[in-house]
Amino acid sequence: MAIILSGMHFLESFKANISQIGLGNLLKVLGLIAFMAFLIFYPASVPRESSEAGPGVDYAYVEHVLASYSDGVHGYSYGICGYSVESRPIYYYVIGEGNETILILGGLHGDEPKGTYACLEILANLTESEYLLKRYRFVVIPLCNPDGAATFRRRNLRDVDLNRDFYDFSQPETQAIRRIFVESSPVLLIDVHESLSGEPIIIYANNTKSRLLARFFSLETDIPGFLAADVGQSANFAEKNGIYGVIIELPILSWKYKNGSIIVWRFIESWARFERNGMHIKERYAPHRLNVDLTCGVGGKVFDGRGP
Ligand SMILES: [Zn+2]
Repeated sequence: MAIILSGMHFLESFKANISQIGLGNLLKVLGLIAFMAFLIFYPASVPRESSEAGPGVDYAYVEHVLASYSDGVHGYSYGICGYSVESRPIYYYVIGEGNETILILGGLHGDEPKGTYACLEILANLTESEYLLKRYRFVVIPLCNPDGAATFRRRNLRDVDLNRDFYDFSQPETQAIRRIFVESSPVLLIDVHESLSGEPIIIYANNTKSRLLARFFSLETDIPGFLAADVGQSANFAEKNGIYGVIIELPILSWKYKNGSIIVWRFIESWARFERNGMHIKERYAPHRLNVDLTCGVGGKVFDGRGP
């Protein structure tokens, strides 16, 4: 009873306080709290939407962020490795002093902005990772298909799917990527895409090392792996050159991954662990030890959906 009475007393005094404060002031305070909560919980890097471009892609914003890396700040050097069909520059960024190069591609498909946004976040994250920068050299091309991004199209302006052109290299965009590939001689190629799925997947090149790496990553993260279809994708190019190659498909719908750079970052860290442990891990995850196939538990499915 005493509790109820004291509760009623509290309610009465609360009402009195409100009338003293005034409803207008109360609304102002609530508004301020809501605004601060928005600032705290709204991820700073959520892609903005442009009214001119298609949903989810903002070419002008991407250009703006890329320009902020173009003056040598943050320890990056940069260059232009080629031009798109419509003469838009294709930028690449280099950071790190390690002997081994990791090449990261984003935005091969113009209607998959998450790959580009993830690359932008990786550029920012790398500046704070001394360990990775000592060990590796990163070459990042955040926007491989700038014409597609500017017009929210999957293909380039000549209507070629760039992630089916890694055998022919018939387009200026893929030729630019090949140039960087040859110059930087990477040990690992990571090509970041976006799919309509709610969960991420990785698609790995059809060589033993990529299969081992994909399996290792899948076991660490529960993110399933699929074998890349032999259709002229970036992973096929990695395979042909005997290096590690994966396509990471970021989920479009899942908020928990934000822009997906978390997944790419986890992959890079996973790679570092995989590589550091060398033959020990490779041996441990080899098929004859586990008595399973190397398809990361998805029955050897080949992925050739709309996504990659
Ligand atoms: Zn794609």
